[in-house]
Amino acid sequence: APMFEDLQPAPADKILALIGLFRADPRPGKVDLGVGVYKDRDGKTPVMRAVREAEKRLLQSQDTKTYLGLAGDTGFNTAMAGLVFGPAAELTRIRAAQAPGGSGALRLVAELLKRTRSDATIWLSDPTWPNHMPVMRAAGLQIRVYPYFDTASGAVRFADMISALATAKSGDVVLLHGCCHNPTGANLDTAQWAEIADLVVERGLLPFVDIAYQGFGEGLDADAVGLRLLAAKVPEMVVASSCSKNFAVYRDRVGAAMILAKDSTQADVAMSQMLSAARAMYSMPPDHGAAAVRIVLEDATLRADWEAELEEMRLRMLRLRVQLAEALRRHSNSDRFDFVASHRGMFSRLGLSEAQVERLRAEHGVYMVGDSRINVAGLPEDGMDALAKAIVSVLD
Ligand code: PMP
Repeated sequence: APMFEDLQPAPADKILALIGLFRADPRPGKVDLGVGVYKDRDGKTPVMRAVREAEKRLLQSQDTKTYLGLAGDTGFNTAMAGLVFGPAAELTRIRAAQAPGGSGALRLVAELLKRTRSDATIWLSDPTWPNHMPVMRAAGLQIRVYPYFDTASGAVRFADMISALATAKSGDVVLLHGCCHNPTGANLDTAQWAEIADLVVERGLLPFVDIAYQGFGEGLDADAVGLRLLAAKVPEMVVASSCSKNFAVYRDRVGAAMILAKDSTQADVAMSQMLSAARAMYSMPPDHGAAAVRIVLEDATLRADWEAELEEMRLRMLRLRVQLAEALRRHSNSDRFDFVASHRGMFSRLGLSEAQVERLRAEHGVYMVGDSRINVAGLPEDGMDALAKAIVSVLD
C-alpha cells in the first residue's frame, strides 16, 4: 500500500499562522506582537554590526569548507562556555558542543540524558516554550510539569514550584529558563535561584538550563546569575544556549549544548556520548553563523561593539515595557498590568482570554499569541496609548 495515503496533516504552528494573518491584514495601524524575534523601531530585525563585520572577515579569510568535526567550531565552543558560565567557571569540568540553534542544543542534551538513563523524567515549567514538550518527547524522555506562573498577578508561583519539585525523584531532570522566561516574562530572583540550587542538590536532581535570551533581561552577566549560582553548587548540570536572539543569527542556526560534570574524566565521557548522538541525528552543525559569533567573541573591539548593540536592544525593550505599563495604568485606572514593567526579556503574558485576544485581532488589528503572550520588541513607540485603549476595551 502507498505510504502516505492515510497520513493526516500535522497541526499548523499557531505562531506561524499568525504571521500569515498579519501579512494579509490591510489595516495600516496593525500591530504585530506575535512571533518571537527582536524588532527595532521600524519593525526590522537587522544583522548586528559586529556580526556583519565578522562575516566579511570570514569571507576574506576562509579558504576551505572541509568538515570540522562533530563538535563544530571549537573556538566557538570555548567562547560560549565562557559567555554562559562566566570567568569563575571550572572549565576542566565543562564541555560544549556547537549545535543547530538552541533547539538543536536542547535535543542534543535530551539525547544524552536518554542515553544516561533510559527512564529519564524531565520537569517542565507550566507554561513553557511550546517546543520544549515535543523536543523532549522526541528524545524519548518522560515529561512532568511544575507550576510556574500566576496569570492574574503576573508573578512566579514560587512556593508551588518548590512543592512540586520536592516530589521529584532522585535522577529527575529539571528544565529551567536561565532568564527571560518564554512565554511569561516572569523570572526567578537570585534568592529563589539559591533555593532551587539547594533543592536540586538535596534531592539529587539534574538542572538543565535553557538560556536563549542572555543579555535581553538584566544584562549579559546578570542574566546568567542563576545558572552560575547552580554551577557553583551542583555536581552536574546541562545547558542549552542559543545565539539566535542575542546575536540575531536566527536562520544561521547557532547554539551550544554544554555539560558540567563531576570531573574532567566524566565530562569527556558525557561529551563523547553527546557527540555520538549528534552523529546519529545530523552529524555536524552548520558552520557559518557559529564562526561569525566566534570571531565576534574573540575580538575585543567587535565584542565591545556587539555588547553595546545588544545593550541598546535590551534598554529599548525595557523602555517599551515601562511605556506600556504606564499607558495601561492610565487607561484601565488600575495597577493590574504593572507587572509588564517588572517582567524581563522579550515577552510578557498579559493574562487575557483567547476570546479577548481574538477580539484584539479582529476589532483592533492587534496580533498576539492566543495565550496573550506579547513580543515587547513589537510594541509601537508612537502608538502606545491607542494600543492600551484597545487592550482595555476588550477586558469585559
Ligand atoms: N528556548 C527558548 C525558551 C526559546 O524561546 C527559543 C527560541 N524561540 C529557543 C530555546 C531556541 O531557539 P533557536 O532554536 O531558534 O535557537
